[in-house]
Amino acid sequence: MRVKHFKLFIDGEFCGGRSTFEDINPATGQVIAKVEEAGPEEVDRAVAAAKRALSGPWGKLSVSERASLLHKVADGIMARFDDFLRAEIEDTGKPVSWASAVDIPRGAANFRIFADQIKTMGVPAFHQDTADGLGALHYVSRRPVGVVSVICPWNLPLLLMTWKVAPALAAGNALVVKPSEETPATATLLAEVMRDVGVPPGVFNVVHGFGPGSAGEAMTTHKDVAAITFTGESATGQAIMRNAASGLKKLSFELGGKNPALVFADADFEAAIAGTMRSVFSNCGQVCLCSERVYVERSVFDRFVEELAKRASELRLGDPFDSATAMGPLISAGHREKVLSYYELAKSEGAEVVMGGGIPEMPAEYAAGSWVQPTIWTGLSNDARCLQEEVFGPVCHIMPFDSEDEAIALANDSDYGLAAAIWTQNLNRAHRVAAAMETGLVWVNTWFLRDLRTPFGGSKASGIGREGGEYSLNFYSETKNICIKH
Ligand code: NAD
Repeated sequence: MRVKHFKLFIDGEFCGGRSTFEDINPATGQVIAKVEEAGPEEVDRAVAAAKRALSGPWGKLSVSERASLLHKVADGIMARFDDFLRAEIEDTGKPVSWASAVDIPRGAANFRIFADQIKTMGVPAFHQDTADGLGALHYVSRRPVGVVSVICPWNLPLLLMTWKVAPALAAGNALVVKPSEETPATATLLAEVMRDVGVPPGVFNVVHGFGPGSAGEAMTTHKDVAAITFTGESATGQAIMRNAASGLKKLSFELGGKNPALVFADADFEAAIAGTMRSVFSNCGQVCLCSERVYVERSVFDRFVEELAKRASELRLGDPFDSATAMGPLISAGHREKVLSYYELAKSEGAEVVMGGGIPEMPAEYAAGSWVQPTIWTGLSNDARCLQEEVFGPVCHIMPFDSEDEAIALANDSDYGLAAAIWTQNLNRAHRVAAAMETGLVWVNTWFLRDLRTPFGGSKASGIGREGGEYSLNFYSETKNICIKH
C-alpha cells in the first residue's frame, strides 16, 4: 500500500512543517501516511495568513456570497464522497455503514445548515422612550470575531470539525484548524475542496500536530487568535483554558461525558434495547454522547441485561469496509491500553463481567489492530471509578433502580453533564425526568437524533457554551449594540 503524505495548508498552499509523524490505521496497525507537523512558526504563518484574509476579498464578501461559497464546499464534499469516506475509515477503522450514513453526509450538511441560517438570521431591535419624548432605536449588529483556532478530536473527525468550521466561516471569520494527530486525513481533503471551490487563501488553514509543545499549544497562546473552539477531553479543556487566559480569548468547549441512560419498566422494551445498543456501542463507544451508565428499573433489569448481552455478543467485528461490519477498533494502541485498564479496574472494583472484558480474536490481517471486545458490567456501586470516569470504549455498566427519584439521583451523581437518554412511554414521567437531568442534552425514546438548529453542549465538566444554529453563530460573532437617538 502506498503511504500517503499529508501536508499543512497555509495561505492557500500545501507546505511542509518542522518535522513529520506517522498516521496509523487502527484496524490493521499499518502506517498509512506521513504527516507534516506544525510548530509555533508554522502556526504563526497560518495566523498571519488568516489575519490578512480578514481584510482581503473574504472580508468584503456579502453574506449571500459567503453562503453560496459554503454551499459549494458542501457540494465539493459530496462530489468527493468516496474519497472522504475511504480517508475517514482508514484513519479511524470505523465501519462503512456508520461513516457513510453519519460522518461524511453530516460533514456536508453542516455547511448547508449554517449557510442557510446566516442568510435568514435577524437581529434584535428595541425602541426606547427617552425624557425628551423623541426616543431612541437600539439595534444589534454582528461582525466576525477574527482569527479562530479550531481544535478537534479524532472520534468523528470530519463531522466535528465542520460543525465548527461551517458556522465560523458563515459568520465571516478566518480559521486555523487542527485535526487530531490521529485523524489528519479528512481535514487535508477539506483543504483541497476549499481551494478548489475558490475559498480565498488564508481563510481556511490546516495545521497538523499534537497538543503541548506543538501546534495545539501554539494555537491557544498566539496573540492574534481571538477565539478558540475546542472539542475533546475535559482535562485538555482545562489546559487550553489556562493557556488562553493571558490573552483573554473567547472559548467554546465541547468536552467529555459519562452519560446515563434510564430505562423505566413502562418503556417500549424493544425500542429501549435497540436504542441502548446504539447508544453504547456505536463507533466502538467513541461518541461523546454514548451511554456508559445504564440504569434499569428492577422489574425489567434481568431481562434487559440478558437481552443487551445477547445482542452485544452478536456484534460483528471485522473489515471496516464490509457493510455487514457493526463495530470497528478503538482509535489507537494507546487508547486501547486505556480502555483495557478500565476493563481490569472494573474487576478489581468488584464488577461482574456479564460479557467481554478483553481482546477479541481477529484474523491475521487485523491482529495488530486496536480491537477490544464489547463489554457489559453489573454489580458496581455508583461511586466506583468505572462509573465516574469516562472510558470512551464499547462498554457500559447496568444498575437496577427502584424509583424515579432514585434513578434521577443516580444519573445526576456525576462530574459530567453532557447527555441523558430516557426510555419510558409515560409522557408525564418523560417531562419530569428530562427536566431533572443535569445535562445539556436529553433524548427521550431515542438517541443521537440531531436537529442542527438546536443547542448542543454540556454542563458541569462536559463543556462551556452551546453550539448549533444561532448558538454557534453567536459564538463566532462579536455582537455590537448600536443606539441611535431620534
Ligand atoms: P483530546 O483532548 O485528547 O484531543 C483533542 C484535540 O486537542 C486534539 O487535536 C489534540 O491534539 C488537541 N490537544 C491536546 N492537548 C492540547 C493542548 N494542551 N493544547 C491545545 N490542543 C491540545 O481528545 P480526543 O482524545 O481527541 O477526543 C476524545 C474526547 O473528546 C473524549 O473525552 C470525548 O468525550 C470528547 N468529545 C466531546 C464531544 C462533545 O461534543 N462534547 C464530542 C466528541 C468528543
